Amino acid sequence: MDVYRVIPLRENLWAVSELEKTVLYVINGREKALLLDTGFGLVNLPELVRGLCGEKPVVVVNSHAHPDHNSGNNQFDAVWVGAFDEPESHAAPDEASREQSRAMFFEEFEKAGGTLPPWNPGPAPRVNVLLDGDVIDLGGLALRVIEAPGHTRGSIALFEETLGWLFTGDLILTWEVWGQLETSAALRVYHRSLERLDALRPRVTAVFPAHWDEKNPYGYPSCQLQPEVLSVYAEGTARIVDGRDEGVPYEFWGRLLRCAYFSVGGMVFDPDRIG
Ligand SMILES: [Zn+2]
Ligand SMILES: [Zn+2]
Repeated sequence: MDVYRVIPLRENLWAVSELEKTVLYVINGREKALLLDTGFGLVNLPELVRGLCGEKPVVVVNSHAHPDHNSGNNQFDAVWVGAFDEPESHAAPDEASREQSRAMFFEEFEKAGGTLPPWNPGPAPRVNVLLDGDVIDLGGLALRVIEAPGHTRGSIALFEETLGWLFTGDLILTWEVWGQLETSAALRVYHRSLERLDALRPRVTAVFPAHWDEKNPYGYPSCQLQPEVLSVYAEGTARIVDGRDEGVPYEFWGRLLRCAYFSVGGMVFDPDRIG
């Protein structure tokens, strides 16, 4: 089992699967390259991007400020992050979140026979903020920022409008998503974000999530969800918000929460934080 695996998806687009569970994306524009998320940062990321895109400036963006997506930020001088996740983006993960990362990602990988390099998470010296509607122009390819508070308050999606590529971070997965975290928005806010993404559906050709398991039961090709999943999540969360789906009990680190399962994935939520 590899720590990192590069998967070519389209011309100028690669997925980088980390520990066979988390996905970073590399997008190669004419003038600049973009690295979406730095994962746990277990390999030399500048070198990896250079190997795919050649020698050019690299724009580093975090889909949100969770350690499985931003631990490699300290390999770069600057990163861009959704404005409302900026406060959390200046520090290395604390002991509790390190423990959680080890339990959820590293132990599983090691049990499957993998050997991990040392993990040295840390922030970038400079954290820049992205706002709704900002456009990152790479030359020939451009990514529009969509603020999508939900999984975290500062979660963002990136949309390449000409090609219909929608990058959704941890907002939509093939398994149940966490909408119950202390740093999550109220579920009604999360639902509103999913409705906004669903409104783009006619122009979306593929949804690229930040986690992936090749053993997904839906037969999706590597790291790509069908645009239909946008409606599945928008409608599924509408049912929770309207009280039509109470979900089933779901235990999360000693807390008893609820989870509503959809035809693809699902949503963990705190019934006291529907909003
Ligand atoms: Zn996350
Ligand atoms: Zn994640």
